Amino acid sequence: MGDAHFKQHLLQRGISRREFLKFCAVMAGTLALEHTFAARIARALENPKRTPVVWLEFQDCAGCTESFLRASRPTVAEIVLDVLSVDYHETIMAAAGHHAEEAKAATIAAGGYLLIVEGSIPLADGGVYCTIGGRTAADLLKEAAAGALAVIAVGNCATFGGLPKASPNPTGAVGVDELVTDKPVLNLAGCPLNVVNLTATVVHFLTFGRLPETDGLKRPLFAYGHRIHDNCERRGHFDAGEFVRAWGDEGHRKGWCLYQMGCKGPVTYHNCPAVRWNDGVSWPVAAGHGCVGCSEPGFWEFGAYKTSPVFDVTPPTTYPPVEQPAQAISPGAAGVLGGLAGAVLGAAAVGTAMAALKAKPPSSGGKSE
Ligand code: SF4
Repeated sequence: MGDAHFKQHLLQRGISRREFLKFCAVMAGTLALEHTFAARIARALENPKRTPVVWLEFQDCAGCTESFLRASRPTVAEIVLDVLSVDYHETIMAAAGHHAEEAKAATIAAGGYLLIVEGSIPLADGGVYCTIGGRTAADLLKEAAAGALAVIAVGNCATFGGLPKASPNPTGAVGVDELVTDKPVLNLAGCPLNVVNLTATVVHFLTFGRLPETDGLKRPLFAYGHRIHDNCERRGHFDAGEFVRAWGDEGHRKGWCLYQMGCKGPVTYHNCPAVRWNDGVSWPVAAGHGCVGCSEPGFWEFGAYKTSPVFDVTPPTTYPPVEQPAQAISPGAAGVLGGLAGAVLGAAAVGTAMAALKAKPPSSGGKSE
């Protein structure tokens, strides 16, 4: 798609040049790049190499596909995803049966495509619990991964096994990177995938020709570099010891912290508070429900109403001005005590929370090798 063609494509979708450049700036921000990279992103998207995509679905609910398609109006993100040539996607492609399989075979034979995988792969009993066209998911994944430039696993099922892997894991479900070990694999965890993060990953790939930097669980740092708890809009209430104790109580109506209701924000790495969902309208914590930890391995086993460990307790960063008259307890000390009181009041199992202060988080935010 050439420059003129791309501009025409934008115009046809009712997207102005200004909106396109704004989108590029937002993508640079989402990818934690300096704003100067927006121009480079714009150049890359205006002259994109049409990269074929093969999208495989295995043990899943198609929720990530729904998320991929979920846009209330044509957006620049859609246009970007349009520049990819989705040659095979069982749910959205027009072709069916042998025609669909032929399209996939042709793309695989040509090579140089992105492989996106949704759903976990069953290995028990020879992989019989998920077969397509008489072939097992494991077999189909290995075949498609062999010629791929890179593999992007989307959703908790494809990244960490998800619901199918929950105890007792009857199908022997595993995530993609347990089977694909000779290709770059990126994990876009979540239940479902947030399409903003897929778009940003594609933009990064088209701009720089490679996948973004990842943490120890192969999740891109731009999206999973910080805990929900660190950027949560209810964090002030956690620090102040103001907690919802029952659904619909006064604290719930006032928007207080959901820690006591089982919120997993303190142990979950994801950018939900920043990018939110449904065109940025809202996200679970804003809607009044705690984070369920859907971007972490084994989140189905976390226990919906169990309080999560708190790995560090920090005092509020905002204090009264130093010019204020001295009080019985200094503002600084009050702040520290307030923070600690918040944690102590918040943790039903105080001992658990305090013991966890020295424990290592289950998911490292450190860079991969
Ligand atoms: S515990 Fe949950 S609701 Fe409370 S501040 Fe942390 S992430 Fe937000």
